[in-house]
Amino acid sequence: MAKAKRKAKLTQDNLVSRREVLKSLLAMGAVAVTAPAVASQAQTTKRVIVIGAGAAGIAAASRLQREGHTVLVLEARDRIGGRVNTNRTLSPHPIELGAEFLHGDEVVTWDYVEAFGLRTLEAGIGSTSYVHSNGKLQDATTWQREMTGIDGSLEDVLWDAADLWTRGGGEDMTLDELIDASEMLQDLRDPSVRRVLDNMYGEEVAAGTTQHGVYGIVEAAYDGDGSGDFRVQSGYSTLLARMSTGLDIRLNTPVRRIDTSGAGATVEAMDGTSFTADAVIVTLPLAVLKKRAVEFNPPLPDWKWEAVDALGAGKVDKVILRFKERFWPANLGELFTDKTLQVWWQPGDGRADAPPILTSNTGGANGALLADLTAEEAIQLGLRELSDIFGQDVSRFFDTGVFTGWGADPYSGMGYSYVPPEAYGYRADLAEPVGNALFFAGEATNSVRPACVHGAIESGLRAAKEVMG
Ligand SMILES: Cc1cc2nc3c(=O)[nH]c(=O)nc-3n(C[C@H](O)[C@H](O)[C@H](O)COP(=O)(O)OP(=O)(O)OC[C@H]3O[C@@H](n4cnc5c(N)ncnc54)[C@H](O)[C@@H]3O)c2cc1C
Repeated sequence: MAKAKRKAKLTQDNLVSRREVLKSLLAMGAVAVTAPAVASQAQTTKRVIVIGAGAAGIAAASRLQREGHTVLVLEARDRIGGRVNTNRTLSPHPIELGAEFLHGDEVVTWDYVEAFGLRTLEAGIGSTSYVHSNGKLQDATTWQREMTGIDGSLEDVLWDAADLWTRGGGEDMTLDELIDASEMLQDLRDPSVRRVLDNMYGEEVAAGTTQHGVYGIVEAAYDGDGSGDFRVQSGYSTLLARMSTGLDIRLNTPVRRIDTSGAGATVEAMDGTSFTADAVIVTLPLAVLKKRAVEFNPPLPDWKWEAVDALGAGKVDKVILRFKERFWPANLGELFTDKTLQVWWQPGDGRADAPPILTSNTGGANGALLADLTAEEAIQLGLRELSDIFGQDVSRFFDTGVFTGWGADPYSGMGYSYVPPEAYGYRADLAEPVGNALFFAGEATNSVRPACVHGAIESGLRAAKEVMG
């Protein structure tokens, strides 16, 4: 995701307020150096297992532990963070392999960032956005004026049309179909504009305009998130590490079965070890649920599987290339393309020690193509496309590169979730508990703030609240 989110019209009742998070952080002495708060006498202390140590799982676990519950986190990988993973070898400054930005200056993540005293860098200060389309590289404003005659954000134009369409009770369809159906969008009908827009949505919401549903775009309103995009100066993983201080996390423990047929829950790991608790919070990525990697006993109800199957698990991957020298404009903010790799930016944006590195982020149908490539193939593709964009063989400047491989990773299998036509409303079903012992969190369960770290955190806090009753 490369942009702070759209304006918003929808609200969600079960979101946890910034005030509540701040209160709980203050109760823990902000940096978890004090013992967890003791549960009030009226409250029943529960034993809770959280499956997955990504943003949702860590947020849920730390909230529950601070409220005096006994929490165990089971994580398949040999690290915490899930789709937040900072690389510290490619550059003197941190490079984000997964989530990179805090989208918006009002999102819940800031409560943690501020409580832990982490510094941030605002992305794109003093930079220019570019578009490469039909073999031509232009600054984005010029390209947009020439191609559409529109001055403001194209996404806002599309969003406003989608909003109006849904308010008028129009049928659900893809955003690309809406471009034909809505008179408000006639300026977007040029095939090359559609192609760039498809790429913009692909990288931002993991589904191109030809895949994402109109109602789903309006549902994900990101109400009140504020503006701006920010990087954690010390790396996103630092934030997750600080949030998880004091938690009992078992790494290298993939779960294979969750049994809630008796009182409470029994969770079985791949190696046969089993753990019991009063409640389980499942934060498995949607793609992991889709492939039925974990067995549920009793089986999950049909309405839950319907939600799992209806929602989209968009593949999103990054190709990150380090060069010996810079061949792009120093002020390059985002460079959107009509190619396979959808957007490029400088991950060292705003840092004094930044070597010449470009990151591309690609989702939607192109993300699916990318997920099938080897690292070498993905890097060569990046070099070929950059050579084409900048009209010279850039491989002579190439030093080294990284391909993130989220799409093929057995414990993510995806970038972020999206809502195809007719899948509007299913996120709420995905979030819904099953019985008294089985709870669900994770970015895909957040109806209004999906596909992002702050949405995942909110979902974890929501699930923790549900467990506490
Ligand atoms: C390339 C990319 C770029 C992104 N950019 C941004 C961005 O700039 N800003 C932003 O806000 N968001 C971004 N996101 C999205 C963001 O990373 C996710 O929405 C968020 O991190 C999801 O958190 P989660 O806790 O829901 O899931 P995850 O982080 O996926 O956590 C789930 C955890 O479950 C574990 N798990 C899986 N299977 C098992 C099992 N069987 N047993 C036990 N554990 C298991 C996984 O290992 C993982 O740790 C990006 C994502 C990608 C991939």
